[in-house]
Amino acid sequence: MYQWIYKQGVKHRNPLLPAAESFLQESDTWSRAELEAYQLEKLQALVSWAYKYSPHYRTKLDESNVHPRQIQTLADLQRIPPITKQTLLEENEAIHATADFKQLLFSETSGSTGSPLTFQRNLEWDARHRAAIHRGYSWYDIQPWDRNGYFWGYNLDVKKHWKLKIMDKLVNRFRIFSYEKDEIQTFIKRLERADYLEGYSSMIYHVARKIEQENISINTKLKMIKGTSEKIFDAYQPTVEKVFGRKMISEYGAAETGIIAFECPEGNMHTTMENVIVEVIDGEILVTNLFSHSFPIIRYALGDYVELDTETACACGREHTIVTSVMGRIGKEIIGEKESYPSLTLYYIFKNIVMDSGDAIRYQVLQHRKGHLEFRVEQKLKPAVQKRLEAEIRKYFAQDMVYDIREGLAFHRDGGKLKDFVSFI
Ligand SMILES: [Zn+2]
Repeated sequence: MYQWIYKQGVKHRNPLLPAAESFLQESDTWSRAELEAYQLEKLQALVSWAYKYSPHYRTKLDESNVHPRQIQTLADLQRIPPITKQTLLEENEAIHATADFKQLLFSETSGSTGSPLTFQRNLEWDARHRAAIHRGYSWYDIQPWDRNGYFWGYNLDVKKHWKLKIMDKLVNRFRIFSYEKDEIQTFIKRLERADYLEGYSSMIYHVARKIEQENISINTKLKMIKGTSEKIFDAYQPTVEKVFGRKMISEYGAAETGIIAFECPEGNMHTTMENVIVEVIDGEILVTNLFSHSFPIIRYALGDYVELDTETACACGREHTIVTSVMGRIGKEIIGEKESYPSLTLYYIFKNIVMDSGDAIRYQVLQHRKGHLEFRVEQKLKPAVQKRLEAEIRKYFAQDMVYDIREGLAFHRDGGKLKDFVSFI
């Protein structure tokens, strides 16, 4: 029945989805050369389109002396200047293509700061995005209509609950609205018949911990646990695996770009090369969304630090480029007495500790004033680990920073999302 409801929904919402799904199933086994040839073809089409229909890109390409005909290789993409979220906001109307589309889907991203970004997506853009998620599911033998538990927006307005509940019923989903023990019990009962679990990684972890601490018995046969929207800390995995029977996998993407990468069963995040071109310049990711015709996204600085691996052959056989890590948001800098530091420094501090001792620490760092950092760590640190952490802090900040290490404190949440670094300066 859920399959039928699902298929009716697709027909109504986006009839291009089934074709996009079949295409991505076929290209899943393509060689790297095939994937790159396909990317070039789609890139040329996108740049020509943007030049023709997007007033913003027309001006920008003319100003940078780039004509669509000059895009002869994937490397030629670098001739086009990157675009930032600020430009997407300021030039919003001029970026939108003037061409006629039969149907467009309105999108709004919920920025935690500033005004939300709104834009129109053409159907193919939406179809490719959804198909990329569904292909990822298929790697775990999951169909889009399979039963799933959902960790999302637990602090929602109570009045909206009934609407959500109807919607959830239709898509064979149930969710958790609070961390109360009763609610967790009900959720776990339902999980027994679920195929997968998804949501904010910090919430999945939080509930797993609660189940572990309170010794609640649980019996699930989950095929996939997908963490989204937030960094998945290494420290989450042992508890999640112990409680739910699998480790959490990650999906990486944004509304503007669609799905950028999806983790395969071998533990590697493969980029969706058929939909996006991913570049890394000075550690920062730039994404070109090859199907963004209504609102062209070309070399978009998404604001994350990432690392790519184009060499390693994954045991799963896919030749799609691997994102080895999403190291964090490019956000506020850490301010010392004399100098400032990228927030990425924290990633290295904790990475070094894991690499060295195997101790994965769940942390959050807050900066309330210049030259001072507050390290919040969830667990009680062993003396050796505490020492190691202090040594790492000194290694990166030397005498420029004083710090407190505080154990067992709640983490600060910004608009529901958990960040590893929060600056109040
Ligand atoms: Zn793989």
